[in-house]
Amino acid sequence: MSGVVVAIDGPSASGKSSTARAVAERLGFAHLDSGALYRGLTLVALREAARRDPSAAEPLAVVDAETVLRAAEDRGLMLQSDGVGFSTYVDGEPADSAIRAADVTVHASSVAAVPTVREWVNIHLHGLVRAGRDVVVDGRDIGTVVFPDALLKVFLTASPEARASRRISQRGMRIDPASLAEEAKLLAARDHADSTRATAPLQRAGDAVELDTTRLDFEEQVARIVALARERLERR
Ligand code: C5P
Repeated sequence: MSGVVVAIDGPSASGKSSTARAVAERLGFAHLDSGALYRGLTLVALREAARRDPSAAEPLAVVDAETVLRAAEDRGLMLQSDGVGFSTYVDGEPADSAIRAADVTVHASSVAAVPTVREWVNIHLHGLVRAGRDVVVDGRDIGTVVFPDALLKVFLTASPEARASRRISQRGMRIDPASLAEEAKLLAARDHADSTRATAPLQRAGDAVELDTTRLDFEEQVARIVALARERLERR
């Protein structure tokens, strides 16, 4: 039996994951970060490429999608429930830090643009939710493609400057105009790739509630989503 789904989509660094986790904690739901599976597949692709050709200038040119998906099974890529959230495992080890490395972040959008990769991820996401748990799922296409019947769909946005400065702060680095401009450029490139791909591009679902978090503090944005979810749960 499927559980209740709250879908939170939005561009990179709009605060989806941290918001989704806090919302899940308050509702007593689990938090499922769909980006972790795309990042996990990207890590697998980079490891597999390094094994085949350690000096490849463009690692993704060395492995095709079929190879990556087979390697994901062989290397045991999976998400395992760890309380509220899920931990990512690759090669029998926790990979939560490895999937956040800069080279994974840079290549993730290319891996995520491949239709067979998206099918693989969606099968896993459906499997995790079919286990019957109520979940808050965050990503780019959760309300549009993966869980179109979600109880509540939220589309989070924030200005490019706000998103870039949040990303830099998360890394514990100092925010100066040059680093802000560089980070905003990287985020814009990922947003462009995610919004213009042919399969399941990043877009707001017609029935999603849009929340611009540029001027909201974290507590406020979490409280708004929790209130919306409780309203819908009561109306069911
Ligand atoms: O959310 P996060 O930045 O961790 O996602 C990593 C990458 O995975 C994104 O840049 C995007 O290309 C891809 N992604 C996606 N669809 C999702 C979640 C993530 O295409 N539902």
